[in-house]
Amino acid sequence: MLSEHQVVCPIHPMTKRLLRDLGEQGLLQELQPFFAPESATIPVSVGDDAAVVCFDGDLVITKDLLVDGVHFSDQTTEAEAVGWRAGAANLSDLAAMGASPVGLLVGLALPGDTPLDWILGVYRGLAHFGVPILGGDTVRSSQRVLSITALGKIQGPAIRRNQACVADKLLLTGPMGSARAGLELLLYSEQGEQLSQEDRQVLIRAHQRPTPRLDIPNLLFAQTRRIGGMDTSDGLADAVLQICRASGVGALIEHQRVPILPAVRTLAGDRALDWAYYGGEDFELLLSVDPKVAEKLLTLHQDFTAIGTVTASPEVSDDLGVLLSLERSFQHF
Ligand SMILES: [Mg+2]
Repeated sequence: MLSEHQVVCPIHPMTKRLLRDLGEQGLLQELQPFFAPESATIPVSVGDDAAVVCFDGDLVITKDLLVDGVHFSDQTTEAEAVGWRAGAANLSDLAAMGASPVGLLVGLALPGDTPLDWILGVYRGLAHFGVPILGGDTVRSSQRVLSITALGKIQGPAIRRNQACVADKLLLTGPMGSARAGLELLLYSEQGEQLSQEDRQVLIRAHQRPTPRLDIPNLLFAQTRRIGGMDTSDGLADAVLQICRASGVGALIEHQRVPILPAVRTLAGDRALDWAYYGGEDFELLLSVDPKVAEKLLTLHQDFTAIGTVTASPEVSDDLGVLLSLERSFQHF
């Protein structure tokens, strides 16, 4: 049966199909191409009451909740980027523990007038990572809410926040402040006129399509099993402070060593370091490792930068004398 919209807009019937026209079974059919095929490691995928997955090691689990108007908006985020960022945030948390991904579960709470295209866009964003989508649920709601659960596996001890030791080097896997700069460009398009088109794209991509550092754990584990660390999803300051708090140590950051892209410096001016510390949503890893291990890692991957040292003093500051503050970091409540 044709829906009202399909009759009114016969030229673009696909773009006008709404969730309420499809129903749950219709939606499941549309999503079928995104679900993991059954295999030796996934003997039961989507279609039964639950999925079955085989793997060796310890299970690592994380969940993220994204709410329309809080974590994304039509102004700055198209559907594919919503899915991409949700996937990236979860997979970054797996990487931060040293885990490799096993699968994703997708929960969607959506108003009936949500276009099918929006839902397919979210799934396209999620599917980008090539991590099996093992199941999910869709319910009716007055607001768009996306909940992703990521399952990972690890053999041996995980990377943890409480594993930093005095005299460790703090290593970052990539530049800070880029996602904050991208958001600035999306919110205020008149900004950054002095940037090249390419630079603008790099920064916007950093905000909309970040890459979780799933490539890092194996590199680390080949060198050591004692790694303090977490991801920088809530900013560099938050990561340094959380690791120091959990480990009962302090840290001294060398502010000139904090990697910040030239384009971010151009756009941010004297706010560049602030964006690096407090901007958030750069899904890199901050790691605390023995100085000898740090030295080795710096030769193994050009993305690593040593930005400071773990200290016995409880203070967390930089060499400008600026104390880092959790209050200034992004907090939901
Ligand atoms: Mg995190």
